[in-house]
Amino acid sequence: MTDRSLTLMAVHAHPDDEATSTGGVLARYAAEGVTTVLVTCTDGGCGDGPGGIKPGDPGHDPKAVIEMRRAELAASCEALKVTHLETLDYGDSGMMGWVTNDAPGAFWNTPVAEAAGRLAELIRRYRPDVVVTYDENGFYGHPDHIQAHRITMAAVEQTGIPAKVYWTTVPRSAFQQFGTVMREIGVEFPEPEATDEMPALGLPDDEITTWVDTRGYGGQKFASLAAHASQAENIFFLRLGQERFTELMGMETFVRVRDTTGAAKPEDDLFAGLR
Ligand SMILES: [Zn+2]
Repeated sequence: MTDRSLTLMAVHAHPDDEATSTGGVLARYAAEGVTTVLVTCTDGGCGDGPGGIKPGDPGHDPKAVIEMRRAELAASCEALKVTHLETLDYGDSGMMGWVTNDAPGAFWNTPVAEAAGRLAELIRRYRPDVVVTYDENGFYGHPDHIQAHRITMAAVEQTGIPAKVYWTTVPRSAFQQFGTVMREIGVEFPEPEATDEMPALGLPDDEITTWVDTRGYGGQKFASLAAHASQAENIFFLRLGQERFTELMGMETFVRVRDTTGAAKPEDDLFAGLR
């Protein structure tokens, strides 16, 4: 054992992705003295603009969006007490099939080896014990999330440094609970159905290896999300209010895909086996 503190690195695609799926663990582990590093891969330029202007609509100015989202990301990191924010500043690729996928500098258009090399440098600098990113489908198929997954797995392979690697996921049972709460507050929310075009999201509860209770940090997680209130999908969550949001989103769940500690599964701590 060395005297350096434990380190968590979360690799995300866009400014605001840190809030919903890992805001709780970032806040909780920072409070426990863990060094937290957030890597945000893109500039978020395909997000909603000031005043809610959608990408592609007249008046959507990617430069203004990027600037606004950079400030929002800084405020979110402050809420979560993130120790180090690193931005790779690739262009936001937009949704799958958008022309922005092929734009010069777009993350999706960047060779995996090139971006993985930059991330590997950060992994060598911070030496994270635990790295968290998305699954191979980027949870819901967004090209930048898929690319974040690919470069993370390549950088982990190259460096061999992290003792544990996790993919964020959502238990199927949570979708049912989510639908119930949404209908309670008057939001239309259809029962999730798997179709040929879209695979079912999340995982059956018994395939989830790691359940981290972050409900004690719900205020910080909600504040992090509120920092990104310019994005329509976040406004949707903010409508829940802090208490309901925490009840629904306070348990953060993961699949452990790399482990050199031998910690037993299921586990309730990303650092199980490391302290
Ligand atoms: Zn995203």
